[in-house]
Amino acid sequence: MDKIKKCPWCNARIHIDVKTCSFCKKKVGKTVAGGIAQKPIDWRSYLICLIVWVVFILYIWWAFFR
Ligand SMILES: [Zn+2]
Repeated sequence: MDKIKKCPWCNARIHIDVKTCSFCKKKVGKTVAGGIAQKPIDWRSYLICLIVWVVFILYIWWAFFR
């Protein structure tokens, strides 16, 4: 139970300290309740989403409110 967490991607049992799953080579985050590792936050996806929204709002402003 201790020192083991589950990979959120492939469900493999991996050591609690590893940051990359040795089976599927994907990044794993901290362990949450139940011994399953979190999926790490994908900051690049958040950033792209944010940029898309800003561009969209600017376009609406440019198209209708000038
Ligand atoms: Zn894995």
